Amino acid sequence: MPELPEAETIRRDLEKEVVGKRIKSVEVSGTRTVRRQTKKQFIGRVEGQRIDSVSRRGKNILVSLGDDWLVVHLGMSGQLLKTMPKDPAIKHTHVVLTFTQGGQLRYVDPRTFGELYVASKANMAEEAPELEELGFDPVEDVMSWNAFGGLLQQRRKKLKDVLMDQKFVAGIGNIYSDEILWAAGLRGDRSSDSLSTQEVRRLYRAVGEVLQDAIKLRGSSLADEQYRDLYGQVGGFQNEHNVYAREGEPCKRCRQPIQRIKWGQRSSFSCPGCQV
Ligand SMILES: [Zn+2]
Repeated sequence: MPELPEAETIRRDLEKEVVGKRIKSVEVSGTRTVRRQTKKQFIGRVEGQRIDSVSRRGKNILVSLGDDWLVVHLGMSGQLLKTMPKDPAIKHTHVVLTFTQGGQLRYVDPRTFGELYVASKANMAEEAPELEELGFDPVEDVMSWNAFGGLLQQRRKKLKDVLMDQKFVAGIGNIYSDEILWAAGLRGDRSSDSLSTQEVRRLYRAVGEVLQDAIKLRGSSLADEQYRDLYGQVGGFQNEHNVYAREGEPCKRCRQPIQRIKWGQRSSFSCPGCQV
């Protein structure tokens, strides 16, 4: 599932490729991707608009269309692809935006958990309440390690769950929480109010460093290769993973085999030797 680094990679690509372009036509097929409003409402608010900037909040990509945001949430398997109208059809294409200057954006999503919708910038609380509830963005927002520690103290939940809680910090999911915890040398099941000052600082630093490194390498594509950037290319950070999907392989820090444990519906990877 795409997390902050993948959404940020696509945001940067979009900023380069589509800002200043005007959307000539919008095609929506199926009923799953545009589900918060009717197709007619969606198309009415997008068609004819000019893209003036592209932002991101957590895992959500926000395309600015004057008074509205076009919000893209990639879900499990969503891809935004830059194409030309003459390019061959792609299976599972649900939305196509065609620009007056030529060129297209296609939204492709085999599993259809992703979503596109339009929300008025002046009325986000009603039209995009989940964006209003997001916690701090570790790449966009400034937060001191001290304030970060204070929030951890209040939560009193398992560290991995706190990191994945979008209302605490926006954009981190299963992969990057495992990588951040390894980088910080902390176990995911430690209670968030049990950290020493030094451990809070390590975790704080790890959040920023892991996400920035992942953005530099354009995100992680797993074995299913469902995450693609705007140009259809896979990311590079999966080759740098220290724990995620490395069960049984030696820890790069202490050589003990990486273990996989069940974490709710998912798998969590960690080192039993050097994460305390
Ligand atoms: Zn280790």
